[in-house]
Amino acid sequence: MTAWYAVLDAPEAAKELEDQATADWLIIGAGFAGLAAARRLRQLDPSGRIVVLEASRVGLGPTGRNSGFMIDLPHNLQASDYGSAIDDDREQIQRNRAAIAFAGQAVADYGLSDEAFVPWGKVNAAASEAGDAHNRSYGAHLAALGEDSQWLDAADMRAMTGSDYYRSGLYTPGTVLIQPVLYARGLAEGLQRQAVQIYENSPVVALERAGNSWKVCTPRGQIQSPRVIMAVNGHANSFGLFKQRLIHIMLYASMSAPLDEAAQKALGGQDFWGITPSDPMGSSLRRVKGSGGHRLLMRNRFSYEPSLAVDEAKVQRLGLDHDLALERRFPMLAGLKMQYRWAGRLCLSWNSAPAFGEAEPGLFSAVCQNGLGSVQGTMAGMGAAELAAGQASEHARGLLAAPSPSLIPPEPLSWIGASAALRWKEWRAGPEL
Ligand SMILES: Cc1cc2nc3c(=O)[nH]c(=O)nc-3n(C[C@H](O)[C@H](O)[C@H](O)COP(=O)(O)OP(=O)(O)OC[C@H]3O[C@@H](n4cnc5c(N)ncnc54)[C@H](O)[C@@H]3O)c2cc1C
Repeated sequence: MTAWYAVLDAPEAAKELEDQATADWLIIGAGFAGLAAARRLRQLDPSGRIVVLEASRVGLGPTGRNSGFMIDLPHNLQASDYGSAIDDDREQIQRNRAAIAFAGQAVADYGLSDEAFVPWGKVNAAASEAGDAHNRSYGAHLAALGEDSQWLDAADMRAMTGSDYYRSGLYTPGTVLIQPVLYARGLAEGLQRQAVQIYENSPVVALERAGNSWKVCTPRGQIQSPRVIMAVNGHANSFGLFKQRLIHIMLYASMSAPLDEAAQKALGGQDFWGITPSDPMGSSLRRVKGSGGHRLLMRNRFSYEPSLAVDEAKVQRLGLDHDLALERRFPMLAGLKMQYRWAGRLCLSWNSAPAFGEAEPGLFSAVCQNGLGSVQGTMAGMGAAELAAGQASEHARGLLAAPSPSLIPPEPLSWIGASAALRWKEWRAGPEL
């Protein structure tokens, strides 16, 4: 279980699907994409029967396992400075901001607590000369896009984080820092108040056509619906969709034990911030406060996992790098232990394209979020809902016009290639890790 989940009160017992029913709209998966799809559908169809099926609990999947950066700017993990071509990035920024505004409106409408959604911005932090150069190139790229950013020197970084580790940072104001489980649960509760039916612990185990409808089976129930939105990210492969086109990556995070008053004093700096690494393969770091007290969150290490799963021993082993990264940055906190470790899935495509659109008649796909799933998943869910309702917005049309995920080599070639590339890129990230 993630720290985000563990520090909150346990949710009420799950409502599972236990009967046979029909729906006007069926969404599979209650992550960023599925929850956004449900909200957008409710806006477009105030009285239709909307059902969401979730394999586990809301907030237990990758949507509740991330570092909580809802980033408005280009965040291409496969580029050394996160950027792509200028025109593509401009379009991406518009979509990202529309998704963040949509999420922000949901947070306001459903009355989520301030802790769930904090418009703080983010700092791209550099520990090395190479990282500094990446940041300068990213800053120049942002300037070419007409985007503001603020350069922070080592003293500014120390004043913010309490650490001498960083030589510079690039602050941009548009990122929102979320508590992802509070966010996902809050959205699910708000949607239920709007008569969206959400069934948890109800994995879809079969999906087949039944006349003009789709029939979907869970272990104990069945739903028939003319329109289905697939919002399961990489698990789309389990339904036979996008075979040989989705790359399954596991990411790892740890959260520290609470910082007591003495530790907070020893650390200094501000009591809430979020930094992403100047090299995409480095460490993301947050200082959080709220449910669970004051803590530090560390996220680094990637592994290629075509099975979409990883065992606990690997989570613990790779998590040791979080301890080292923490020690390097915060020697004044010697003795502070990580209390929680976890891993979660990402879904990428070789050409960084989303798998979006009407995959088969009445079956709409909102998967393959390429590393910025909080935002791109939200947009994919919104767009798939609009497409299903025949009301595609400019953003949904933009996603439709994007290329499809390209083919990846068969196994074991993919495993060998991806694993070697990840190891090399992590090694190259050096002190940014
Ligand atoms: C450690 C870590 C840090 C990250 N940090 C960030 C970050 O800071 N910012 C960011 O934007 N992204 C981040 N990500 C990535 C982000 O979490 C994902 O891209 C995002 O969760 C994708 O959202 P989604 O809704 O498309 O899919 P998911 O979050 O994977 O949701 C899909 C849901 O579908 C459910 N499901 C699967 N199969 C079935 C089935 N058969 N039946 C019913 N339900 C099913 C799953 O249980 C899951 O809840 C991070 C990920 C990790 C692991």
